[in-house]
Amino acid sequence: PKATKEEPKKEGKSKNQLKKEKKLAEKAAPKETKPKQKQAKPGKPSVTARPEGGSAMPSDSDLLLRQAKYAHFTAINGDANAQKVTPWDVEAEGGVDYDKLIVTFGTSQLTKDLVTRIEKLTGVRAHRYLRRGYFFSHRELNEILDHYEKGNKFYLYTGRGPSSGSLHMGHLIPFTFTAWLQKVFNVPLVIQLTDDEKYLFKEQTLEQSEHMAMENAKDIIACGFDMKKTFIFRNSDYIGTMYPEILKIQKCVTYNQVRGIFGFTGSDNIGKSAFPAIQAAPSFPQCFPIPFHNRTDMRCLIPCAIDQDPYFRMTRDVAPRIGYAKPALILSKFFPALEGATTKMSSSGPSPTIYVSDTAEEVADKVRRYAFSGGGESKADQEKYGANLDVDIPYQYLTFLVEDDVELVTLAKEYGEGRMMSGQVKERLITVMNAFNADFQKKRAAVTDEQVRQFMTVRPLEF
Ligand code: ATP
Ligand code: MG
Repeated sequence: PKATKEEPKKEGKSKNQLKKEKKLAEKAAPKETKPKQKQAKPGKPSVTARPEGGSAMPSDSDLLLRQAKYAHFTAINGDANAQKVTPWDVEAEGGVDYDKLIVTFGTSQLTKDLVTRIEKLTGVRAHRYLRRGYFFSHRELNEILDHYEKGNKFYLYTGRGPSSGSLHMGHLIPFTFTAWLQKVFNVPLVIQLTDDEKYLFKEQTLEQSEHMAMENAKDIIACGFDMKKTFIFRNSDYIGTMYPEILKIQKCVTYNQVRGIFGFTGSDNIGKSAFPAIQAAPSFPQCFPIPFHNRTDMRCLIPCAIDQDPYFRMTRDVAPRIGYAKPALILSKFFPALEGATTKMSSSGPSPTIYVSDTAEEVADKVRRYAFSGGGESKADQEKYGANLDVDIPYQYLTFLVEDDVELVTLAKEYGEGRMMSGQVKERLITVMNAFNADFQKKRAAVTDEQVRQFMTVRPLEF
């Protein structure tokens, strides 16, 4: 993603570095002038409002529990300044340090060579998320490619925890990328909807979880999956077939281990401790006898954001002990929150979120009011120093959305060197995001209940 930053490192500190430090210092000592962003306009819907069924602000006990998890996470890493990246929360003052994450999680870097290899094997130019390093890390991706090169099929597995009626922009990263992988490798795919997880972990009823799962399935289908090759399932519905595999996994993992990996405490319900085995199970083709025609020789590749890695670290530890191959992973960075890259965009939390169901006005309003700008405080400052692209959210969102590399490089140069104002970049983002959303909403509206039923029917997949 740094490809657009062409400025070579100068002796001492660059303007951008100085600006970044100034911004960080301001953050450390909050003053009244900065987050004008946080105030909601009177008469406007609150930013915490969720598409139907979504949860509101976390309760105090939620926050206490989270703090306990943070303390735990920090303690197990033995580093008081540890960034917190768990399947529930991402907190990193100054932005997530992904290189450090590779080291702490023990994953591998997704090198340019691997990207080139994917291009060679598929004969297709790499997806922009690969070209720009948004999928930046992996576990045994090279083995999946070896396997594929020898003429063997693998399958893809990804998922979604239904906690809001609509997906947000961050969720589209793994799903649109998975749709691309399915297409270029021509492989089957299973998508797990963890309605059970959201019921156990959040204040939502089973009925709400089921309803949101079905709504989310429409969003997911709109990402362009091939019905003949895709099986979408809801855990509380499909669990029976997976249960023997879940049991094998559960028998291999102790309570101390799940506490160590996920930070559960003595007051968490017992369903939470049992859940990781349910997210682990689809990594094994034994869970899909009908969709996969009883084939158990296929390797599994899981595209997801790196926050899901703890689940699959556990899975990979268990796999050889029950005689199965380890799932491979291809891991993405986070689509950052509007208010800054210190956390990920999420539907669970007080930060404003851009949903794929948002109207053009809602998107424009959220971007103008909340998107953290790396541009100069004044026009003169911007002209003099340029923008700090590393922290500029509108620019970063554009790097996720814009396909044209040349447009991005030009924008980075113009804005980074102060010839473009932050307002102009925000307007560009609004245009691009609204075009994307309009297209997505059209596709989503065309998804029928019957199609959802078909995607979710247990049937042999064609591959
Ligand atoms: P929520 O915040 O709504 O509870 P979540 O953010 O935890 O949801 P899940 O539904 O649990 O998301 O995850 C679905 C997939 O989307 C996972 O692969 C997860 O890593 C990915 N994901 C979620 N948020 C982001 C984000 N901001 N950027 C990139 N990927 C994301
Ligand atoms: Mg989650």
